[in-house]
Amino acid sequence: MQKSIERIAGDSEGVSYEFPVFRFTGTDKTAPPSAYLQAALHAGELPGVVAIDALMPMLEKAEAEGRIIGNMTIVPWANPIGRAQYLYGDHQGRFHLGTRTNFNRGFPRLAAPDLSLLPAHGTVDQRLKARLLQLSIGHDIVLDLHCDDEGLAYLYVHTSLWPAMADCAAAMGVDAVMLWDEDPDGTFEGASIMPYQNVPADVARLDRRVATTVEYRGILDVDGALAGADAEGLYRLLVARGVIRDQALSAPGSFVGLVAPIENIEMMPAPRSGAILFDVKPGDRVTKGARLATIVHAPGEPDGRTEVLAPQAGLILTRRSRRIIRAGEDLLKLVGDRTSADARSGTLED
Ligand SMILES: [Zn+2]
Repeated sequence: MQKSIERIAGDSEGVSYEFPVFRFTGTDKTAPPSAYLQAALHAGELPGVVAIDALMPMLEKAEAEGRIIGNMTIVPWANPIGRAQYLYGDHQGRFHLGTRTNFNRGFPRLAAPDLSLLPAHGTVDQRLKARLLQLSIGHDIVLDLHCDDEGLAYLYVHTSLWPAMADCAAAMGVDAVMLWDEDPDGTFEGASIMPYQNVPADVARLDRRVATTVEYRGILDVDGALAGADAEGLYRLLVARGVIRDQALSAPGSFVGLVAPIENIEMMPAPRSGAILFDVKPGDRVTKGARLATIVHAPGEPDGRTEVLAPQAGLILTRRSRRIIRAGEDLLKLVGDRTSADARSGTLED
């Protein structure tokens, strides 16, 4: 394993950012599958960071035993800019404060997996995004580890990779898979898979390609036992896809979690501002018309509460962690059994 330090110059003199990159070199020289893992692109989302921390000793053991077949690149904390952003004591890891741009939006959308197409200039967050794509493009397996507010473990997967990626979902032991088609905003996952959509099949190799945004539950689910279980899941995926050899592991079974198109997600905007009293939590099944939450907008007054009801039957995937809400902000994600009437539900929303 080799460790190197990436340096990204800041936008003013005297400021720069750095982050470590770990590389394992595969023993097989016949182009076996390779893997790229990154965590904390949204810099405060740490379940994936501690999962990688738990995974590294397993990779080092495999390396010592000569069982690493394909190359691996690991970036445990992909966003040193967001990692350093604090505003009045609160960590701000989702948006770049200098440009108000979401760190997981605005990635270059390449027409082909050709790094010479990457823009060379831009603000510091844009240069970080270009560098992360440089590090990741060309790997067969690209995993971007995130988390939600409060939630189940689930994956976003482009429809061109499903059901071929069902073994990965089973290996990781996630609860659900959301399938998407459109990524107009340029997420990292979109930037990782869209360059392969209009190239010859022998370049795209979609049958062995993996690209996914992994949502490792909620922002507070930073826990040693969960990290160990998630590391086991990542390891099983790497073995199942031939990056690591481990004859002690059996192939993953079939995926038994929920699979649904992203258009089925009900985002459930709050009708009023106020305090949220939730009736449901991630993992609950609800029927149409079931009460999901009550918004207390005028405490102590008659008619001071507004109920929010399920527009259709489905599974509660996530919910907001803070209990104060403005009108129009999203309360939770309900994966319905059919297409949502909410037009926002069709794009990758991490
Ligand atoms: Zn995220």
